[in-house]
Amino acid sequence: MPRHILVTGGAGYIGAHACKALSRAGYVPVTFDNLSTGWRDAVRFGPLEEGDLADRARLDEVFAAYQPEAVMHFAALSLVGDAMRDPGTYWRRNVLGALNLIEAAIAAGCGRFVFSSTCATYGDQDGVLLNEDTAQQPINAYGKSKLAIEQMLGDFSASHGLESVIFRYFNVAGADPDGEVGEFHQPETHLIPLMLDAIDGKRAALTVFGTDYPTPDGTCIRDYVHVSDLVDAHVLGLNWLEGGRGSNVFCLGTGSGFSVREVIAQSARVTNRDVPVIYGDRRAGDAVSLVSGSARAVRDLGWQPARSDMATMIADAWRWHQGPGFRG
Ligand code: UDP
Repeated sequence: MPRHILVTGGAGYIGAHACKALSRAGYVPVTFDNLSTGWRDAVRFGPLEEGDLADRARLDEVFAAYQPEAVMHFAALSLVGDAMRDPGTYWRRNVLGALNLIEAAIAAGCGRFVFSSTCATYGDQDGVLLNEDTAQQPINAYGKSKLAIEQMLGDFSASHGLESVIFRYFNVAGADPDGEVGEFHQPETHLIPLMLDAIDGKRAALTVFGTDYPTPDGTCIRDYVHVSDLVDAHVLGLNWLEGGRGSNVFCLGTGSGFSVREVIAQSARVTNRDVPVIYGDRRAGDAVSLVSGSARAVRDLGWQPARSDMATMIADAWRWHQGPGFRG
């Protein structure tokens, strides 16, 4: 019997990498995706079922067809800037979509759920290293919608015994080292791919959002984790649930913070090119510093973020950026 895992958002950046990791681990990832931001040709490791999380009947149909052992839920709107401009869409799509998915899973007897949450649920905490017990105080509708889903999972765990592993991601970067999948958003908003575009001449320059933050060099600090390491943790999280170890929350970061200027400097070194830069205003909704202070995933899941040093992440992203799979 194939061991199906329902992967919502499997056509997106992180979801596609997760499908590859699941497939390597012996599962059959079934992608459920409306292709609003994902890519049909990124679905390479199992079937694609087109559908929208708002469509409960379609979800029921897919659960019935595959009887997945677990759900990995990646599909979401995830841009802070958009969430600031249009919070209603974030609440509706992210929270109602997750509610439909959770209820469909429970109705189908699928009791394991791996959820992609975010360090944006912590808000702005003034240089604190963030761990699973840090109070969550999101400052934008994106972080708030993810926190609401975390809380929803807790309620359904109490009422229906749904078991969940919640991963709070820090900043995800890099690309599959084999070049089979990588990052491509349309429009692109993330620091590293935009910078590679600027290096490559695909855009005139990278705009640095704010140089007057209370950090050593005035730019925001983030904790970057390699996408391949991140999805490895998801397989370990699934194994955790299979082992009957119960619901848990894990931060996925490395504990090392990099400022925007430091990422730019590293990129110049790795690519051996100049990075054209413009210094602009702050972007609304950005926290000053988001760095993980947790080793729980390493300790309890046996997670080894082996590729998450900045030079490797940029080198992998750069190779993907210049390879045949990149659409830009
Ligand atoms: N950033 C920037 N210029 C850009 C995009 C991002 O200076 O064109 C900064 C952004 O303000 C943040 C960091 O880079 O401090 C990472 O932003 P990204 O959008 O990649 O991820 P986020 O932290 O929003 O999840």
